[in-house]
Amino acid sequence: MTRLVYLLTVLVLLGSCKQEKTTEPKKAKNIILMIGDGMGVNQVYAAMSVATKPLSFEQFKYTGFHKTYSANAYITDSGAGGTALATGVKTNNRHIGVDPIGKPLKSILKYAEEHNLATGLVATSSIVHATPASFIANDTSRYNYEALAYDFLATDIDLFIAGGRKYFDNRSDSLNLIDSLKNRGYNIVDGFQNVDTTAAGKFAVFTAEGHNPSILEGRDKNMLPQSTENAINILNKDKDGFFLMVEGSQIDWGGHDNDIDYVVSETIDFDHAVKRALEFAKKDGETLLIVTADHETGGLALVGGEMETHTIEAKFTTDHHSSVMVPVFAYGPGAENFGGIYENTEVFDKMMKAFGFTK
Ligand code: MG
Ligand code: ZN
Repeated sequence: MTRLVYLLTVLVLLGSCKQEKTTEPKKAKNIILMIGDGMGVNQVYAAMSVATKPLSFEQFKYTGFHKTYSANAYITDSGAGGTALATGVKTNNRHIGVDPIGKPLKSILKYAEEHNLATGLVATSSIVHATPASFIANDTSRYNYEALAYDFLATDIDLFIAGGRKYFDNRSDSLNLIDSLKNRGYNIVDGFQNVDTTAAGKFAVFTAEGHNPSILEGRDKNMLPQSTENAINILNKDKDGFFLMVEGSQIDWGGHDNDIDYVVSETIDFDHAVKRALEFAKKDGETLLIVTADHETGGLALVGGEMETHTIEAKFTTDHHSSVMVPVFAYGPGAENFGGIYENTEVFDKMMKAFGFTK
């Protein structure tokens, strides 16, 4: 009997030793979430086929898919899609940062703020458009742009770079939110080229009154890649780490227009921004980089093409969004959790886990 007790004790001790040796998975200090709005697998492959050099998408070892349907529709919009990624809750189409009954939800950006991390948003649309707004605002309508802009003042966001200045200083309520931002320590900058990354304080960088032009219309090819790099360099000064969301906003608009050149040029532009983020993540070693979409747009089909000449023949089956699963590419600590097929809301859950945050 005593021998048995002895043996059991030894086994228990061995067991606990073994447990102690099991190392906790490495946490991410920084997370960069990059969203190609409307970027399904076929948009990615169209860009890969047309590009004359390999795109960054191909460098990711961990890839998965998420299901994009919203709380009230098989086909999501960017409000519900952005909210699912930002807050981990499926909501109704048009909703921004609120659940189906309108209750405000806390985004990953706000959790990051609570944990003293630096936070930022970069987009090629206006900053109050559905995707970036989902990380900041709480509203039952994505079209209340002035209200969405007002919600920026209720946050501690350290940096944003996008269009949409008019929603801050040319408002129907005559409020000047640019002055309010200045009073709160923001550097107000017009034009992405004019960002002094060595300046102290927060950054509100406006690149247009409304949306930015598309690449085809002449948007500076450096706007998104350089802004992504500037955002990383500014936020990375925070020793506690950072959360940054970068959106390639206009891939979606090319899909709505059924314009393959628009889709491909915006997807390649987005990939150039991904490249900058991936270079940083590789050097840094503590950064989780996730590249995904909120939904697919256009029901894009590739029905012909030629690899040698980098040409494709594309057909769109709708001028709206489609319901298909969208890709996820992940790199860095926690990236291994992004393989497989899961709900869009789980992107939020996996980011929370990677940061070591609890709800
Ligand atoms: Mg968007
Ligand atoms: Zn859309």
